[in-house]
Parts: sequence; C-alpha cells; structure tokens
Amino acid sequence: MTYDYDLFVIGAGSGGTRAARVSAAYGARVAVAEEYRVGGTCVIRGCVPKKLLIYGAHFAEDLKDAKRFGWNVPEQPDFSWSVLRDNVMEEVDRINGAYTNTLNSNGVDIILSRAVVTGPNEVTLSDGRKVTAERILIAVGAHPAIPDCPGAEHGITSNEVFHLDTIPKRILIAGAGYIANEFAGIFHQFGAHVILINRTDVILRGYDESIRDRLLQISMTKGLEFRFNAGFEGIDKGEDGCLTVRMKGHEPAVVDMVMFATGRIPNTTGLGLDSAGVELDANGAVIVNEDNQSTCPSIYAVGDVTNRVQLTPVAIREGQAFADNTYGGKSVRVDYDNIPAAVFSHPPMAGVGMTEAQARQTLGSVKVYTSDFRPMKNVLAGRNERALYKMICDGDTDRIVGLHMIGPDVPEILQAAAIAVKARLTKADFDATIALHPTMAEELVLMR
Ligand code: NDP
Repeated sequence: MTYDYDLFVIGAGSGGTRAARVSAAYGARVAVAEEYRVGGTCVIRGCVPKKLLIYGAHFAEDLKDAKRFGWNVPEQPDFSWSVLRDNVMEEVDRINGAYTNTLNSNGVDIILSRAVVTGPNEVTLSDGRKVTAERILIAVGAHPAIPDCPGAEHGITSNEVFHLDTIPKRILIAGAGYIANEFAGIFHQFGAHVILINRTDVILRGYDESIRDRLLQISMTKGLEFRFNAGFEGIDKGEDGCLTVRMKGHEPAVVDMVMFATGRIPNTTGLGLDSAGVELDANGAVIVNEDNQSTCPSIYAVGDVTNRVQLTPVAIREGQAFADNTYGGKSVRVDYDNIPAAVFSHPPMAGVGMTEAQARQTLGSVKVYTSDFRPMKNVLAGRNERALYKMICDGDTDRIVGLHMIGPDVPEILQAAAIAVKARLTKADFDATIALHPTMAEELVLMR
C-alpha cells in the first residue's frame, strides 16, 4: 500500500510543528494541516503574546518605582494599549512567519485547512480532498472552557483578550488558575479594577500553599478583589453595555468585561477520531501510551489534546520523542518527573518537584527551608513586597525534592535551579556553592 505521505500531522502548534519538522529532517514525507495559524496557541494566542503583555504591564510598577531611583516620571505616565497590542501582534506575525519558514525549509507541506480523520490512514480536508498517510499525528491542542450559563456569550476568553479595542475599567475573571492570575496582574497594571472569582477557595491549585498564599496576599494588598466559593450563575447585559455577573454566595458584580479562564478542553469534537477507533477519556482527550500512540496503531497524539501536562515545552518534547522514535531510529520517552512551571503573575511564581504537602504525604521525613526576604530593589523603591523561596528536602537523604518561589524574576532563577533538582542534588550541594552577591538567587545557597 502506498500513501500520499509517511506522516500527516493535524495541528501546527508547538508539538505538531516540532514533530513535523524533525520527522521530515529524518527523511519522512510529511504534511501538516492547520486550520487557523501556524504556531498554535503558544505563539498566536498564548505564552508569547501573554509574556509580552506581562513586560508591558510591568512598566506600570517600574515607572512608579523609578522616582526613588532618581528618575523624574510624570505622576500619571501615558499608556497606549493600542500601541502595545499592535506591536505584540507584529511580533506574533514575525514568529508565525519563522515557524512557517522552518517547516518549508525542512520540506514539510503546509496545508492551511481543517483536516478530520476519516480512517486509520486517511484524513479529509475542508474542500473534500482525501489524503492518505502511513501515520497520523493528532496535535490539535485545546480550547478555553466556557461555562454553560445564561449570558456566557458576553464573556471573552484568552482567544480574544489579545485583540481588545480598549482596556476595560472593571473586569471580572472567572477561574483562579494560570490564565486568571496572569491576566489579573496584566489588567490591574493597566489600571483596571479586577475581580477574580473561583468555584473553590484556592488559587493555583497544585502549587505550594505558602507560595500561593503569598501571591494572594500581595495581590489583595495591591487592590485586586477575590471572591471564593463563587459558583458562576450568569451574565446580564444592561442597555448601557455593563455586565452584571450573578454568582452563588456573593452579591452580583457589575463590570465592563468578563473573562473565562476555567481550564482548557482538548479539541477532539468533530475530529472524526471514532472513525479510526481512537479512544478518548472522559474529558475528550486522546488516550495514548508512553510512545504517544493512540488505541489505533497508526494514529499518535502529542500536546494538550492528550491532557497529560498542558505545557508548551512538554508538547515539544513529546513531538520530538515521537519523531526520534518513529523516523530517527531512537528509543526516547518523555520523563514527566520534575517539570518546572511558572505563573507570570505580578510578582511571578515558579516551582519544580513536590510541594511541602506532597512531600509530607510521600516521604517518611521532610525538611523545609525558607527564605522570606524583601528584594533590595523593593527596599529602595519603598515597595513593601516580600519574596519567598522554599526548599523541600527528603529528611533522610538531604536530597532536594521541591523548590518553590515567588518574587521578581523567579521563573528565570528556577529554570537553572530545576537542573539541580532534576539531577537529584542535595541541600549540602547548594550550601557548598558560594553565593553570587548581591542577587536574589543567592538566597538559594544561604537557606537555613
Ligand atoms: P487552570 O487549570 O490553571 O485553572 C482553571 C481554574 O478554573 C481553576 O481555578 C479551577 O478551579 C477553575 N475551574 C476549573 N473547572 C471549572 C469549572 N467547570 N467551573 C468553574 N471553574 C472551574 O486553567 P487555565 O484556564 O488558567 O489554563 C489552562 C492551562 O493552560 C493550564 O492548566 C496550564 O497548563 C496552561 N497555561 C500555562 C501557563 C504557564 O505555563 N505560565 C499560562 C497559561 C496557561 P479549582 O482549581 O479551584 O477547582
């Protein structure tokens, strides 16, 4: 049996692009179908534009602090959302072009169309054309969940947030995870009053409790409003355009914009996976084995559509492993232990390994070291905002099993420190390293 391609990838996001270009570099004949824009969520409407907005937002605090460092800054510096938005979109276009070039230069055929699976070795494009391939890789990602409630159509998600005409004066964000806390910080810095509501009484479930509590305390001090145990009931739009959000257990909130950030759902609806016997889990995610293979032997899946860990670098690793194993003659499996992660809140937080609670449940003996300090820049700026670093060690072996941080630049610091945690280094190894002074990161080797 001859096929049109060796590999047909559906979805040109982080995982799909990596798998497509590496497979092609190994000599496979590869096509990738993309229904929106090459680059996927991370590049087009996720990590990349979000991080640029974070940089833009941070100037609000930097300009305030600048006075204490001798700079003469007007009381109300002028901010133009449209300038930032358009420059960010220009950068997104540039990266979209770079991704497209990389695929082209590796000889991958890019098909700008939706593709659905119509058999174990066949996809059908929007124009009805059928294409066959020895293997199909599903890398279609996920989309924002929208609550099923009256007036939900008045809300936006992270898909629309990068294209706003103006910054609202008041915004309510539903959810208290990554996207909610990152955009709460962004909107607050741009001058909006932010109300963050969640169905439970925690933010950023899964992160270490002390670090989450510190973010909550700093955010509340800055004026962000949190409402917990607030089940979303609905949105009423008034004639003046204002939105009244009804929620369980709290008074209604009147705002100008509502954003949903309540998780992401794998994009498998209508993808035809049942035609090939591909099994999905209860959330609609493709079930795969350790080699990214679905229950149909010729169909594989990587990234958010598999609902393992919804992070770009993980999708890239999975795409790379798929290509290496299938076309590169290697035997590689992604190691999901000690994945570092960060929340680009204001201030950011980052963590790797076990939280204190997880360590106490798992290990016989646990030692916890913390450094709770006011970064020197904050001291001179008169900014009463403390950083917190927390190291969790196995009490029997001294091995560092978790590292959790909140404070300026902690994602940058944690990426390096995560290597040490991954390499199973001990607290004594950190202590043996001489501090690099004066930095915030030196606290890592000075913890008592
Ligand atoms: P998260 O999973 O981070 O957070 C979801 C939030 O919504 C939680 O507070 C959760 O509450 C709440 N929630 C979940 N389901 C419902 C529901 N049915 N009704 C009401 N509330 C609900 O999701 P995000 O949307 O913020 O982000 C999606 C994913 O994207 C993240 O998991 C992350 O993997 C990735 N991402 C990563 C970023 C980074 O690396 N910096 C940045 C942005 C996104 P509770 O926990 O209390 O149950």
